[in-house]
Amino acid sequence: MTSVDELGPRRKAEQVRIRKALDELHKDRKESLKGEEEKAVAFVKEGLCIGCDHCSIVCDDDAIELYAKPLASPVMDVDVNKKAKIIRDPCTGCRLCVLACPTDAIVMLDR
Ligand code: SF4
Ligand code: SF4
Repeated sequence: MTSVDELGPRRKAEQVRIRKALDELHKDRKESLKGEEEKAVAFVKEGLCIGCDHCSIVCDDDAIELYAKPLASPVMDVDVNKKAKIIRDPCTGCRLCVLACPTDAIVMLDR
């Protein structure tokens, strides 16, 4: 029968084994997520964009800028009509802008 003195080191060894296994799992998960992000780039569907600027506010990577676009209809009279545009190189594919867009104008594309 196992004595209490023998149990301590065995328990310690088991804790180390479980810790190592969990660290490996977390490392693999982190690397796969990073890889997925870097493979994607955001894209704005111009027709759905209302120029609200939400996306550029949440983007930490300065990968979105707004540009002026004349309205298609001459009946509407507004000073400036804006649309968002993704700058490909700084975009990390984090998808924050997709979550922030109220009109679902942003989609993620493969790089
Ligand atoms: S996916 Fe991320 S980095 Fe790319 S434009 Fe959107 S918020 Fe910016
Ligand atoms: S959040 Fe959506 S609707 Fe607003 S400016 Fe960005 S792309 Fe256009």
